[in-house]
Amino acid sequence: MSMVEFAYLNGKIVHWDDAKVHIFAPVAKYGLGVFEGIRGYWNDEAQQLYLFRVAEHLQRYAFSQKAMRFDQGPSSEELTKALVRLCRANGFRTNVHIRMMAFIQSGELEATGPIGTAVTALPRETDRQIAEGASVQISSWMRMPDNVMPARIKCNANYHNSRLAVMQAQRDGYDQSFLLNSRGKLAEASAMCVFILRNGQLITPSGTNDILESITRQTVIELAREYLGLETVERDVDRSELILAQEVFYCGTAAEITPVISIDRMVVGNGQPGPVTQHLIDTYGAIVTGKNDAHGSWRTPVF
Ligand code: PMP
Repeated sequence: MSMVEFAYLNGKIVHWDDAKVHIFAPVAKYGLGVFEGIRGYWNDEAQQLYLFRVAEHLQRYAFSQKAMRFDQGPSSEELTKALVRLCRANGFRTNVHIRMMAFIQSGELEATGPIGTAVTALPRETDRQIAEGASVQISSWMRMPDNVMPARIKCNANYHNSRLAVMQAQRDGYDQSFLLNSRGKLAEASAMCVFILRNGQLITPSGTNDILESITRQTVIELAREYLGLETVERDVDRSELILAQEVFYCGTAAEITPVISIDRMVVGNGQPGPVTQHLIDTYGAIVTGKNDAHGSWRTPVF
């Protein structure tokens, strides 16, 4: 049983408990799936649920499938309809987090299809660390390099690397984990990208640092330029720069924009969410909910 009634599986809305695959399916055996996490934001005034940046998520979803040599799955139009249909079927009038997965349904390790499509959506509010700030540990796990597994895409198996790092951090009493890459430079958090503010400059690891090609990261770069007049510098980031930064935050679809207030128990800035981070949190919040009606093409209405 779940808190929602319906899921979507292979073209059909099904009862949550019926969204099943066989234990011998390659997705269960080898993690042969790729996925997207998409958020929906309820706007009470407009009585509307807005799904954020669906087109960009579906573009990355297609890219992930290509990189993993999956057969062609359903079209983006069909998948957009599936998202909307599922949210309508569940009658959501709250913020939600959606997971859409393309997975290999039968065969062995080298199978490239048949491709299944599963979509689930659950109510999800914002994490407490957005208001309070997060404590971060620099992981002793390394972000896997691109010639081991491509971090720039969202394939299920990549998340074993993330899981080991975040579990280590949480067992050691931290909220979150930052992973360095094989060159010792900052890559990303377990499921978020990282930004720092140093001497008034917004900096984030460049796309060749074994990071996911994150949609929130791209959104932050655009909003920082537009609303704060800040150009983001995309470059290598050293571990010690994290300690010296005035502000640090991580961002992602689920984590939104979360201030970091300590790293390896060393205080970041004055130990409070900084003004640039707070400005970005407020701007992002207004855009995703449609309270600020700019960037209308980023929001797909459900109702
Ligand atoms: N890195 C990883 C490993 C992630 O799983 C995520 C979450 N999708 C992110 C970064 C942030 O990506 P996005 O902004 O597209 O959600």
